[in-house]
Amino acid sequence: MAGRGAHRRAALFERGARAIAQYLRDDLRGLYVCPLCVKGWPRQALSADVLALEHAPPRSLGGRVVALTCKDCNSGAGHTLDDEMHGNEAFLDFVAGNTSRPLRARIEVPDRPELSGAMVDVGRVDGAIKMVGLPKHSRPEAQRAWEEQLAHMADQGGWDGFHFRLAFTKANDPEVTSVGWLRSAYLVAFAAFGYPYILRRDLRPVRDQITHPKDAIIKPFSTTNGARDRSFRQIVLIQEPAELRSVVVQMGRHDVFLPLSRDNDIYEYLASDRLRGPRFDATVDGKIVPWPNGPQHMIEGATLSSSIPIHRSLT
Ligand SMILES: [Zn+2]
Repeated sequence: MAGRGAHRRAALFERGARAIAQYLRDDLRGLYVCPLCVKGWPRQALSADVLALEHAPPRSLGGRVVALTCKDCNSGAGHTLDDEMHGNEAFLDFVAGNTSRPLRARIEVPDRPELSGAMVDVGRVDGAIKMVGLPKHSRPEAQRAWEEQLAHMADQGGWDGFHFRLAFTKANDPEVTSVGWLRSAYLVAFAAFGYPYILRRDLRPVRDQITHPKDAIIKPFSTTNGARDRSFRQIVLIQEPAELRSVVVQMGRHDVFLPLSRDNDIYEYLASDRLRGPRFDATVDGKIVPWPNGPQHMIEGATLSSSIPIHRSLT
């Protein structure tokens, strides 16, 4: 298995190095450029395990290999984003009733701190919500307090008037989750459109946002459509109306907007909240681009100065 992975990484290195060569100074040719940090790596990075296969969306969410990325980009922050995305998808599936898999949660009782901190698994059984206590994972005092509370309620005849909150431990940061989807969308766009696209100046804030998930650099940059199947994949180039011109990478419920034309700022438009207005009901003109079946990034004759070098090669 290691052998196959190494072979695959070598092939991706070759392809990427060839695709970027025309944009590099002579003495830098032969380097592979990590699409996330835009640092160049020599071939030795492969044997030192610095360059790794990158899936978008993450493999745990059904993604495929789209690029090689360097260790700094792939581990650390990358793993945190993947974990958040995975936890959030499980939560959304749970809310939508699409899964019977239980979710772990912490019970919080606002006016009864002694009862807060007990852990439960919350599942769905025949349409009802079922909570199973997890004594080993709970704060011992909270566990004891709960046992007393339950005995008391059994005596008193029920839960009437008793309020508590469930804090789902895996769905705690929607902001970071959305940046995880931005990262995946960016990598998918890289696989589809190559270096000429991601090296454009207007893609730099996207990379900044990916490396600073907590900051609002280009936020908002995505919308969600809860009705869609999780396996849905599509890239749409919106051309009209002009103010909405953008690349939309659609992955399951998530629609992530990336720049398409330099004549409009899609993030300014999204921030202006006009998407909630009637305008969004207007027909959008554009086209659908084939989902990249691995890294294509070899766009013949593309130049860094063209607005987007994809029209010719993908039609
Ligand atoms: Zn990198």
